[in-house]
Amino acid sequence: MQRTIAFVFAALFFPATVFSGGPAIPDKVILKKTGIKKIVIDAGHGGKDPGGPRRFGLKEKELNLLAAKELYALLKKEKLFATLLTRETDVFIPLAERSRIANDFKADIFISIHANACGNRKENGFEIYFMSEKASDPWAAEVADYENSVTALEEGGQGDPAAMLLHSMARNEYLNDGSFLAGLVAAEMGKGAPFANRGVKQAAFYVLRGTYAPGILVEMGFMTNSTDQKKLNDKKIRAKIAKAIYRGIMKYAALKGWKRR
Ligand SMILES: [Zn+2]
Repeated sequence: MQRTIAFVFAALFFPATVFSGGPAIPDKVILKKTGIKKIVIDAGHGGKDPGGPRRFGLKEKELNLLAAKELYALLKKEKLFATLLTRETDVFIPLAERSRIANDFKADIFISIHANACGNRKENGFEIYFMSEKASDPWAAEVADYENSVTALEEGGQGDPAAMLLHSMARNEYLNDGSFLAGLVAAEMGKGAPFANRGVKQAAFYVLRGTYAPGILVEMGFMTNSTDQKKLNDKKIRAKIAKAIYRGIMKYAALKGWKRR
C-alpha cells in the first residue's frame, strides 16, 4: 500500500523520472543488499526562499544548511546508516520534491532543520515537531503555517487538489515513531544545546506529511531573538546542535534494534 501510494505520488509529479526506465542506481542496489538504514536530512528553505526574518548574521536557509551538513558529517561516519541531504547548496526545492527525494531513497528517518521566528523578540528556545494533522497548540499551528507558506513560491505543488488528496492518504503508521524520535532528539537538545527547551510539539508540516517515514522538524532557535541568533551564528554552537540531534538519532536506532552490520 505504502509503495503504491509513493509510486502514484511520484508518477503524478515526476512522470518523466518514473517512466524513463534507465539503469538501476548502484547505490540503491547496495542499500537493498545490505538492508542498511537510511536517513534523509533536509535543510529548510534555499535559493529564492531565504526562510524566516533575521535581525543580523546568516539567513535561515544558510544556518539550516550549515547545521544539516554538520549532522550529515556525523552520521556519515556511522556504518549503520546511508545518509542523504535534500540539498547541498543554496537551491530552491519545493516541499513535495523534498518528500519525493526521501521517498525515492526509502528513508527510515527524515529530519528537517529550521530556525524559528516570532514577532515577539523575547521568544527563544528550540522546538522539535512531529507530523500530526492537528496542531498541539495555536503557536504550533502558526509555525507550520509559516513553514508551509513557501508553497506560494512553488508552481503547482501542494496547493494542487490532487496533491492534497494524496497527502491525506498518508498513513498514520509513522506518527508514533515520529513522536518517539522527536522526544529523544528533544531530550538530547535539552542536554547538549544551549537553548531553552520549548519541548515537543505537533503540527501539519507539508514536508513531513508527504514523506513516508517517521519525520521530525527541528526549530533550532529563534532568528528574531538576539541571544538565540548570536548562538545560531556560532559554528561551535551549531556543532552542539548537530551533535545533539545525532545523539537522539543514535538512541532511536539503538531502541529500534538497528544492528551494526
Ligand atoms: Zn524554516
